[in-house]
Amino acid sequence: MRVVPVPQLFDNYAYLVIDEQSSEAGVVDVSDAGPVAEAAEREGVTLVAVMSTHHHPDHVGGNMDLLAMQPDGAMRVFGYAGDAGRIPGITDPLDDGQDFELCRPGGSSGLRGKAIFIPAHTRGHIAYWFADEAAVFTGDTLFAAGCGRLFEGDAAQMKASLEKLASLPDETRVYFGHEYTQSNLAFALTLEPGNKQLVKKARDVESLRAQNLPTVPSTIAEEKLTNPFLRSDSEELRASVRALSGESAVDDVAVFAATRRLKDNF
Ligand code: ZN
Ligand code: FE
Repeated sequence: MRVVPVPQLFDNYAYLVIDEQSSEAGVVDVSDAGPVAEAAEREGVTLVAVMSTHHHPDHVGGNMDLLAMQPDGAMRVFGYAGDAGRIPGITDPLDDGQDFELCRPGGSSGLRGKAIFIPAHTRGHIAYWFADEAAVFTGDTLFAAGCGRLFEGDAAQMKASLEKLASLPDETRVYFGHEYTQSNLAFALTLEPGNKQLVKKARDVESLRAQNLPTVPSTIAEEKLTNPFLRSDSEELRASVRALSGESAVDDVAVFAATRRLKDNF
């Protein structure tokens, strides 16, 4: 498998997920079909599937345009079964934990993945996990050093969704929906200035962004060390959150909720 990030709109990423055996590719989260079709052409691959993480227009806004560029019935569209009504063009609704194969409709061999239900940013958000390839596509739930806003869920639900992702193998590469890494790290540093891995990651990311390079992928291991939304057991973070929020948050969910509120206003 080869993954090619395709910049979309202002700071979104779509991803071509290429099967090098067949030169077929799926694409995660199409906001703008043109650049995705161009990227597929440039890479010499045939698009066979869209993998939509959630219904927001900056993630599915290009689905119908991309379908219209292909022969009828040439592409699958995956999305969460419980939110099928909001995923344009959906052909293959997926439930939590359901296996799927990245291949053209009627085809049978391609990269194998699994849907992971991770609600809270929206109530129908899923991740696409390719265990054999050690890669996960997390949309607007898990970002490098951050997480999505709570539009259709609460802090407890987001915390549980992030923990599901954090339980994947450490070496799993994390491909996220937005290039928010630099500002996420700036926020994280206000909470854990003493976290050496965080300081190092901020420095690495600063140099990537200075060259206008994407900060994808991260890894599950890196996120556990640097993402404030996976670190409610850090004493330094808990003390900072209490001091900055003025809340006497004690349990993990309350710390998480206070961290999310601080980030909303950062
Ligand atoms: Zn979103
Ligand atoms: Fe988004």
